[in-house]
Amino acid sequence: MHILKVVDTRQYEEGPDDRFHPIPGSGDEHECDRCGKRHEIHWYVCDDADKEFVVGGSCARQALMLDKKEFNRIQRLAARRRKAEVEFEELLIKKLRIEGARAAAEKTPLPSVEIEMLDGGRGQVRTVVGHPSVRVRSFGPWTKDREQCLKDSWIDHLVFQTTGRLVHHLHSIDNRIMEIEEFFLSID
Ligand SMILES: [Zn+2]
Repeated sequence: MHILKVVDTRQYEEGPDDRFHPIPGSGDEHECDRCGKRHEIHWYVCDDADKEFVVGGSCARQALMLDKKEFNRIQRLAARRRKAEVEFEELLIKKLRIEGARAAAEKTPLPSVEIEMLDGGRGQVRTVVGHPSVRVRSFGPWTKDREQCLKDSWIDHLVFQTTGRLVHHLHSIDNRIMEIEEFFLSID
């Protein structure tokens, strides 16, 4: 008897702790080929005559004579894989949403700005009219660099309004996508 694969069929959703948790009862309930009990984590096993069975965890553990530690390890890995698949899809959706919002924001011209002089005219603060959080301060003359900063801040503001995320969040999304890809490679 040996294992072909173990598949966690449950759906996972992101909790307030930013982690993914299984939704009880959301999986594909299969009747165990051995005992008939329904289970959401499917163990595909194969006997010595090459006959395939789909069984639940406890029957698989008995048939394969797995100790508790090994059994838990395999079942946890299946759950991790499923969780990573769900997270991966959601990350791609988030990424597309932020990128779409950014592309739209880049086409939205900067509205008029209000200039407040500081330090006897040496510095200044520019604020986008009607959007007091979009403001950039300069301690010297207003440079191209400062102007770019104001534009970026305006784009960030629009992206946040649409998606609830800032543009730089794309970096952490990309990092997480890479981590998950590495995990998939490591278990293949
Ligand atoms: Zn069973």
